[in-house]
Amino acid sequence: MILGTENAVVFDQVQKSYDGEILVVKDLNLEIAKGEFLTMLGPSGSGKTTTLMMLAGFEVPTNGQIILEGEPINNVPPHKRGIGMVFQNYALFPHMTVAENLAFPLKVRKMPREEIAQKVQRALEMVELPQFGNRRPAQLSGGQQQRVAVARALVFDPHLVLMDEPLGALDKQLREQMQYEIKHIHENLGVTVVYVTHDQSEALTMSDRIAVFNDGVIQQLSTADSLYEHPQNSFVAQFIGENNNLNGQIKAMNGSACDVQLADGSIVKAEKVNVSAVGEATTLSLRPERVELEPENEMDNIGSGKIEELIYLGDHIRVRMNVVGNNEFVVKIHNRGERHNLTAGQTVKIGWAASDCKALDAVA
Ligand code: ADP
Ligand code: MG
Repeated sequence: MILGTENAVVFDQVQKSYDGEILVVKDLNLEIAKGEFLTMLGPSGSGKTTTLMMLAGFEVPTNGQIILEGEPINNVPPHKRGIGMVFQNYALFPHMTVAENLAFPLKVRKMPREEIAQKVQRALEMVELPQFGNRRPAQLSGGQQQRVAVARALVFDPHLVLMDEPLGALDKQLREQMQYEIKHIHENLGVTVVYVTHDQSEALTMSDRIAVFNDGVIQQLSTADSLYEHPQNSFVAQFIGENNNLNGQIKAMNGSACDVQLADGSIVKAEKVNVSAVGEATTLSLRPERVELEPENEMDNIGSGKIEELIYLGDHIRVRMNVVGNNEFVVKIHNRGERHNLTAGQTVKIGWAASDCKALDAVA
């Protein structure tokens, strides 16, 4: 266990059960550095909100400890943790003006009136709503309300801000704009942010590191590019970005390389990631943009597949194929303006590098 003050937050062997039987958070160990933007990403029900609520103090861990800036906080009530919070349903006070909403956390802290006015104005400017102090929440759009909620979470200069799906209610364009705004506010303030989302592109856009949750367990904790380039298991490979699966069996292993036999008997050269023995079943993970159609150069792996469907998407062409029984196998071709003569029904050669092909745990 690390109690060092370089960490904003440490989860130490934290478990949570609501009913005394099922653990919805299982043995969570996580260190969040000061100033970090850490995102908890995972499907619905994977334990993200429960984890955040334990950090906020609204839920009590069943086992283990949470440490905030070096201090165990299991017995500290939420309002004494000094944490800013933003949720999906803004939760602004409807009967108060925007300025009064922002002043509220400062009044609770008994700050002098003039300092409150200054901080409220500064917070409004930070979220680009300097003229909106006298409006009521109902007189604002959804996006503006959510900016006020962000401002309110930051107005008392907390060291740590928690955000749980804060952009979930906004339309796509506004959501993407707010992602950048929150990211830039984080960069400017240096505050530690723990952010929860089920949206992988949101997580990739904003985070320093991402903890991928499934079934109450962190499946992998790393940077966006490392999650995509080096998934440690099949769940992460499928959850982050697009992914092709090919099922097979380990035939040989040599250091970090392995040979995998597919159902049609062909042998694929792959990187050995989450397999341990010859004879084991494995699922190969292969990204759609790393597969070449009709490769001209020599490649580690050459196979073939039948084109099922071609979809023109402007910047790229999506080719859905049947490769060794998988008819959801997708290849993306960047559109550089060259003509191609591919047609549905055609059988074509495909090639890929062993380093782009990860041997992971078998998917049923
Ligand atoms: P997420 O935020 O990743 O969607 P949650 O932490 O909300 O996941 O939920 C994790 C699991 O705990 C789910 O199975 C959910 O049904 C259950 N759960 C969440 N909150 C409660 C609660 N207050 N009482 C009982 N079960 C709950
Ligand atoms: Mg949730």
